[in-house]
Amino acid sequence: MTSQIARRLLILGAPGSGKGTIASRIAKTYGTPHIVVGDLLRQHIQRKSDESKTIKEHIDKGLLLPDDLVLKFVVDELEKIRDQGFLLDGYPRTLKQAEMLHRQMKVNHVIALNVPADEIINRLKDRWVHLPSGRVYNLQWSPPKVAGKDDETGEPISQREDDKPEVIRHRLNTHDKNTNPIKEFYKQLGLLQEFTGRESDKIWPEVKQYLDRILKDSNSQKTAA
Ligand code: AMP
Repeated sequence: MTSQIARRLLILGAPGSGKGTIASRIAKTYGTPHIVVGDLLRQHIQRKSDESKTIKEHIDKGLLLPDDLVLKFVVDELEKIRDQGFLLDGYPRTLKQAEMLHRQMKVNHVIALNVPADEIINRLKDRWVHLPSGRVYNLQWSPPKVAGKDDETGEPISQREDDKPEVIRHRLNTHDKNTNPIKEFYKQLGLLQEFTGRESDKIWPEVKQYLDRILKDSNSQKTAA
């Protein structure tokens, strides 16, 4: 760990864009708490909080939770660590959520990952899973020892319906439709930093260079103050 960035960061990226990889590298390199909203909601279900029934119903149907509810969870969580800084992931999913968050708590930087759709389709189309265990294989990088069979149990593996190319394309279109206005919102505020590429290993050094610069600038501001 270099040094901690006590900045409020937000990360945007399509499913399959490598957002998880980049986010965990940021968290590890700078010690920034990584808040994944989907995980937060699943924890609420586990804890059987008052709202867990509503949350579970929405998650099970793949529907977005009501904006007020999700904002409350997010802001409550972020308030606890706002002085440490954070990396928010999985929020906002709509322009309305971005506007609501901005009224309650301002973020300092928004990192957007742009990975071409053909690259994402290519990555996800080879993903197969053993459904009972959740073990994931990739026919290109980590194929099963025996084609079509789980390594541990020998049971059949399958392709998730939503990893099929035509479904991925649809998911990506929906994602872009929702995310473009969010990016525009943060661009207007001068907070958006976009990173474009095909591989996380090539995108990461650029993200790191950007964050190192932020860290340097905020340290020199502190020294000057
Ligand atoms: P994820 O793990 O990011 O795929 O999120 C799982 C589920 O949690 C989604 O399908 C939604 O039901 C819910 N969810 C996650 N993030 C949000 C959000 N920002 N707004 C509303 N619902 C969300």
